[in-house]
Amino acid sequence: MSTSSLEPQCENCGKPLFGRTDKKFCNDNCRNHFNRIKGNQKKYKDPTPNSEIFQIIKRNHEILSAYKKLKLAEGTIQFVERDDLIRKGYHFKFFTSIYVDAKG
Ligand SMILES: [Zn+2]
Repeated sequence: MSTSSLEPQCENCGKPLFGRTDKKFCNDNCRNHFNRIKGNQKKYKDPTPNSEIFQIIKRNHEILSAYKKLKLAEGTIQFVERDDLIRKGYHFKFFTSIYVDAKG
């Protein structure tokens, strides 16, 4: 027997369902399993944007963005003093990416 998309299928395991047309699961195990996973998905929350680390990374980005706004000739490398960054409140422990050029 083939299972076409028209036949009702268990929402958990995908097996074809027989009997009542309003059935969603083939048995209690499937219903419980499905609802447990659905419940876990609801409980998961994105990290709060107000978390301390998020604030540090955001601040770091703002500090570096201020340098980016300075107009540089094309191909020019901009060096920034470490102490200058620290004075502005840059936090070296937290960053999302680092760029290394061909020279390392
Ligand atoms: Zn099932």
